Amino acid sequence: MIEIRGLHKSYGSLKVLKGVDLDLPKGKVLVIIGPSGSGKTTLLRCFNLLEMPDKGSLKLGGNTFEFHERAKIPQKDILALRKNTGMVFQSFNLFPHMTALENVMEAQITVQRKSKEEARKRADTLLAKVGLAEKASSYPHKLSGGQQQRVAIARAMAIDPEVLLFDEPTSALDPELVGEVLKVMKQLASEGMTMAIVTHEMKFAADVADHVILMDEGYIIEQGPPKEVLNNPQTTRANQFLNHLRGQTDE
Ligand code: ADP
Ligand code: MG
Repeated sequence: MIEIRGLHKSYGSLKVLKGVDLDLPKGKVLVIIGPSGSGKTTLLRCFNLLEMPDKGSLKLGGNTFEFHERAKIPQKDILALRKNTGMVFQSFNLFPHMTALENVMEAQITVQRKSKEEARKRADTLLAKVGLAEKASSYPHKLSGGQQQRVAIARAMAIDPEVLLFDEPTSALDPELVGEVLKVMKQLASEGMTMAIVTHEMKFAADVADHVILMDEGYIIEQGPPKEVLNNPQTTRANQFLNHLRGQTDE
């Protein structure tokens, strides 16, 4: 589903990704962990070209890209790729002037050119799926963070993407609201949705991930099944990071 080879990305003289290779097969869940500033968000944003890599290659579904200095990627190829991905951000990023229902309808109408009727039907189904059928006509500011994030997940799914990308989807939530969002994500995983998730929720990662990568300073320093990476890391750096995380949680 996603195949990445030799991915590099710099911001000016700051090298952020220094050669990342990665495979995410269809129907699998990838969890990306690592210290702040290690390049997790940048990597995730390269998956749908919200950031343009400097070097390397990306395959996602039927979309293939080679990056190098003078490569000019046509806008229509970028749009084709984005139709295959849904993104969920830490800060929800819902359209504030639209109801929950309208948020989930929007891309179906503008990107997929569906009729309002069709878009509404699909939005109803998705809001029910994330447990928010009753909130369809609420504006984002009337919803809790957990509810907003569940609307954002419904919105990301609305155009039937092949992959869902999550960047710390629960980090901005009050602790008591984290569970309702993770529950929805768990359900999607069990239904075979392909997902790439940046998160610090280690119990969730252990339960749901098929593959975990641990990033540090622009490299993947550990990867494998969650049991191996989370319980038996091979590098000192990974051990330090995981111990630090454990120190922050009550478990
Ligand atoms: P993480 O998500 O792991 O915390 P990021 O990918 O957000 O890491 O950032 C990696 C590094 O790149 C950081 O040093 C950050 O300050 C820098 N960075 C991220 N985005 C930009 C940008 N748009 N312009 C310049 N520097 C950036
Ligand atoms: Mg980040």
